[in-house]
Amino acid sequence: MKKVRLLAIGGLLFLGGLTFTSCTNAGASTVQYACPMDCEDGKVYDEAGTCPVCKMDLVDVTTIESME
Ligand SMILES: [Zn+2]
Repeated sequence: MKKVRLLAIGGLLFLGGLTFTSCTNAGASTVQYACPMDCEDGKVYDEAGTCPVCKMDLVDVTTIESME
């Protein structure tokens, strides 16, 4: 049963980490948008829109960072 207990603890830590991350993001004062494909080499925009290169919707940069 040791493995089951370890999995349970791991799950709790994972959920706790997610909660902490979302709190950190909510505290960010500025929101910037960038192409999810990074067409423009890290260029960011202050407003949501579409990428002029690939026409994809720009995404919140904090969303991209949290996926790493
Ligand atoms: Zn693009």
